[in-house]
Amino acid sequence: MGQVKLELQKELARHLRGGHPWVYRRALEKPPADLAAGAIVDVTERGKFVARGYFDPSSAVRVRILTRDPAEAIGPLFWRRRIARAVALRRAYTPFEGETDCARLVHGEGDGLPGVVVDLYSKWAVLKLYSKGLVPHRSHILDALRGEVGLEGIYGRDEEVEVAADEENELADRESPPAKGQVLWGKEPPDPIVVREHGMRIAVDVRAGQKTGYFLDQRENRLALRRFAQGRARALNCFSYTGGFSLAAALGGAAEVISVDRDAAALRLARRNFELNGLDPAKHGFVTADVLDHLAERRSEQARFDLIVLDPPAFAKSQKAVPAALDGYASLHRAALQLLAPGGILATASCSARVTPEEFVGAVREAALKTRSDLQLLEERRQPPDHPVLLAFPEGRYLKFFIFRKGD
Ligand code: SAH
Repeated sequence: MGQVKLELQKELARHLRGGHPWVYRRALEKPPADLAAGAIVDVTERGKFVARGYFDPSSAVRVRILTRDPAEAIGPLFWRRRIARAVALRRAYTPFEGETDCARLVHGEGDGLPGVVVDLYSKWAVLKLYSKGLVPHRSHILDALRGEVGLEGIYGRDEEVEVAADEENELADRESPPAKGQVLWGKEPPDPIVVREHGMRIAVDVRAGQKTGYFLDQRENRLALRRFAQGRARALNCFSYTGGFSLAAALGGAAEVISVDRDAAALRLARRNFELNGLDPAKHGFVTADVLDHLAERRSEQARFDLIVLDPPAFAKSQKAVPAALDGYASLHRAALQLLAPGGILATASCSARVTPEEFVGAVREAALKTRSDLQLLEERRQPPDHPVLLAFPEGRYLKFFIFRKGD
């Protein structure tokens, strides 16, 4: 049972009762000064139990809720039950042992495990913890994962938490600063791990790659893109990372695909990914550059593409940043539409949770107006079921993906 009770400010219990899993510092009457990261606490309203979660003194989200059942203890069995439930959902709807062997096994808040992300790449799981408050619980999470999935190893990418207070002694005798990640259990993962995604082979660098190594949230959207790539002569994939959408375009039938990203290491892997899929990288382009600079350069050459993919990073990380993000989306789309041939396909994504689909489409419409493009919306998609969204946590509903066709 929760040892410590933290009283909520008036009227703030409602959203927790509704299932929202975050308690901000300012929502607590008296945030304790000396409570350790990871301590299990009960949040109360007028002394009565509302929910139980773990404490993080270094985050604006002081408590992340794990259960609303006063009888549910937070121990090894709790982590096992939640992880078992998350893995069962994947086995049912996004199986990871057949032609696709990668999936997000645990998607934080969406799986009732706030702050915990686990991506599976073939026989390796990559764990990323988004709160120091999870460190004391990490061994239970590892045990639960090993119990639920046949793994060769678990790699940790929780760089933010490596210097947690309770680990300082262990780290003190190391010469160099802690590495970005480490094997938490089992074997060293190969470099790279080669996974299968709907018949594509993808090399994933779990050590130095972005996030956990690959962007699994776009898996089904990459598949969806393939049919629109049929018969395309020249495709441009902006913010390509390791070339996932580029491969989808090439395998879908695009004759030449140019991948653009500012991450040179990602582009080296993109080349390798072309080879892994029997495609000759020499017939395609790999450009390390800022996307806007590159689009401007292409415009000055009067280049034309008949398929363009845009998958930028989140433009708005806070509500305040939304107007600037919408301007950013509008100018990015303007630059892309200027290069899109009549009859061309534009596949465009936004992963800013704060930007609604309507706002995003509004930015695209503004760009269409300015470039005198008539756009038809052909397909509209979101995130796949291994990235579930808790309805009480609308912040989790972040990914939007649209396929448009430009009029001839
Ligand atoms: N579409 C990819 C994921 C893209 S993630 C996939 O399917 O796997 C976003 C990418 O944008 C990252 O690789 C990052 O390096 C790149 N990036 C961010 N800002 C950029 C910029 N201004 N110019 C070029 N690349 C950028």
